[in-house]
Amino acid sequence: MNRALFLDRDGVLDALVFREGEWGAPLQASQLELLPGVREALDLAAKNGWLIFVVSNQPDAAKGKTTMESLRAVHDKLLRELGGAPIKEFFYCFHRAEDKCSCRKPQPTLVLEAAKKYDVNVYESWFVGDVDSDIECGRRAGTRTALIEYEHTRSRRGAQRPDWVCRDLRHFVHALIGQTSSYAAQSED
Ligand SMILES: [Mg+2]
Ligand SMILES: [Zn+2]
Repeated sequence: MNRALFLDRDGVLDALVFREGEWGAPLQASQLELLPGVREALDLAAKNGWLIFVVSNQPDAAKGKTTMESLRAVHDKLLRELGGAPIKEFFYCFHRAEDKCSCRKPQPTLVLEAAKKYDVNVYESWFVGDVDSDIECGRRAGTRTALIEYEHTRSRRGAQRPDWVCRDLRHFVHALIGQTSSYAAQSED
């Protein structure tokens, strides 16, 4: 079985945007900006055997703040910015909370779908996100959890207990690789 990193998108891979008085996901391609160190972190994780998935709620078209076409353009820009980074698949929920869908985080559905499709052992995998609903999603799916302390989402975390708290994705991947190699070194003794 494989082990995987399930990553939230906004606040983990790319920056939030200040709009209508609050910080939120990019609504159009020109607003998308990668966070520092992301590409290198993804490469390093993949090189160390981690499958990488993105699991993201994108309700802004359903809310009428943008269009599905613009959300697709944001996604395409992200792919271009990532420049062939080794992400296996993106799993998006485009619904609003009130739509009562089955795929929106903190529901674990998309994580479990990815795990099934790619033969992933969730217990050896991680969910990495910057808000409480990411941590809850990982916990409900059975993964370990890491909370990224992204500066613009402070008010949306604090009620969940992640396994790790990290400054950013680069910090998380370095800690993960360090832990894995020291574990391997120990078990060789
Ligand atoms: Mg986020
Ligand atoms: Zn959904």
